[in-house]
Amino acid sequence: MNEYFPHLVVGAGISGLGLAYYAARRGVRTLVLEAEPRFGGCIRSLTLPGCGDFWVEAGGHTGFNSYGHLLDILADLGMMGRLTPKAKVGYSLWRGGQRHRVLSALHPLELILSLPRLFTAKARKPELSVRDYYGAGLGARNYRDLFGPAFSAVLCQPADDFPADFLFRPKPRRKEVMRAFTLPRGLAEIPHALVGRSGVEVWTSQRLVEVRWDGKDFRLRLEDGRELACATLSLATPPDVAARLLRPLVAASPSPGVGYLDPDGLAAIAGIGMSEIETLSLCVPTTALGHLKPTAGLIAVDDAFNAMVARDYLPDPAYRGFSFHFRPGELDAQGQVARACVALGIEPRVIAGWIQVHNRLPALRARHRARVARIDAALAGTRLGITGNWFQGVSIEDCLTRSQEECERLFT
Ligand SMILES: Cc1cc2nc3c(=O)[nH]c(=O)nc-3n(C[C@H](O)[C@H](O)[C@H](O)COP(=O)(O)OP(=O)(O)OC[C@H]3O[C@@H](n4cnc5c(N)ncnc54)[C@H](O)[C@@H]3O)c2cc1C
Repeated sequence: MNEYFPHLVVGAGISGLGLAYYAARRGVRTLVLEAEPRFGGCIRSLTLPGCGDFWVEAGGHTGFNSYGHLLDILADLGMMGRLTPKAKVGYSLWRGGQRHRVLSALHPLELILSLPRLFTAKARKPELSVRDYYGAGLGARNYRDLFGPAFSAVLCQPADDFPADFLFRPKPRRKEVMRAFTLPRGLAEIPHALVGRSGVEVWTSQRLVEVRWDGKDFRLRLEDGRELACATLSLATPPDVAARLLRPLVAASPSPGVGYLDPDGLAAIAGIGMSEIETLSLCVPTTALGHLKPTAGLIAVDDAFNAMVARDYLPDPAYRGFSFHFRPGELDAQGQVARACVALGIEPRVIAGWIQVHNRLPALRARHRARVARIDAALAGTRLGITGNWFQGVSIEDCLTRSQEECERLFT
């Protein structure tokens, strides 16, 4: 007899842990399977070898007071007292191998003349890419020299073809909460607290490789050959993984059941691309960086990295930390370290510790909302849940919003 669970979630990033949390609150016992030895996915507050307990964010780094679902969870877990304000430091532009003030790239007259188009094109925003919408509304030169690189830095991937309506999803702000926050040990405190919640069980180093429907339950096979069964299955993996796992569930005949998926839904998922990000995080003794004023990071215009995010928003007496998000395949590890040293104005020998990690984010495209509607139509009436950063948007709050909605659909 296979081990049986009422609800099983695949993927222990914030989406999967969020869904497990919401299900546990409804009294649904939930097991989360995570392929990697660690949980948290793109939330990775890392300590680096040789740098004591100093941590740096190699992935998500900021929560905002517009993250209502996240704030509700933190309140429920008794963690509101841990919200830590981020010191106000500004970004610089990195162009031609030099640091520039962000506003030095602004063409103010073009901005004034273009801005009305931002409002007139609003109705067509869901059909437009970031380049088409903001290129027109902010001016072509402003987009090329400043906003395009800034949006690419925010998204950690080329922003041009991203859907304009998924770049910044307006969310109500909680005025009583600080505008932007971190936590004393970094955002990784959030997945850790979710894992500690009763009713949520997480198995790490357990990669799901196959899903079948036996007419009554889902049957799952893990990489090590172990088999499990569950009544309700939720996927919280990137879309390419979800498409691969769901393929055997696609209805071969027009008799869909709670364990089958409509082929159109699968096609909609399989059509979502991914952006690969090679992140280099490093830590440098504060004494070696006297020449570098505290900074939020760099927006790169013409380099192999899209962005650098600094940890100067939470100063440490001994170290400063930086994460460079490189486009894949342009530089090898030594080349990335050398480029980071140029950007920081340091010699490689002063680096106290560094680490490379691989981040992945969905490369959404225009009319994504229609794609999500096709996926949701295929999921209706099934005992399959799907969540992730490819439904509402890529932010932590977008992930939790989707997870909460999926929990409602599956267990109400
Ligand atoms: C560099 C960077 C900076 C960011 N900054 C911010 C920020 O400041 N603020 C913000 O709100 N958002 C930010 N984001 C976005 C946000 O962090 C992510 O979108 C979000 O954390 C993604 O969560 P997720 O659970 O949907 O996916 P992931 O975090 O990708 O989690 C998916 C999980 O599924 C697991 N998995 C995959 N396949 C399998 C399998 N077969 N079996 C079992 N497990 C599997 C993976 O190992 C992974 O742990 C940032 C993202 C990046 C990359």
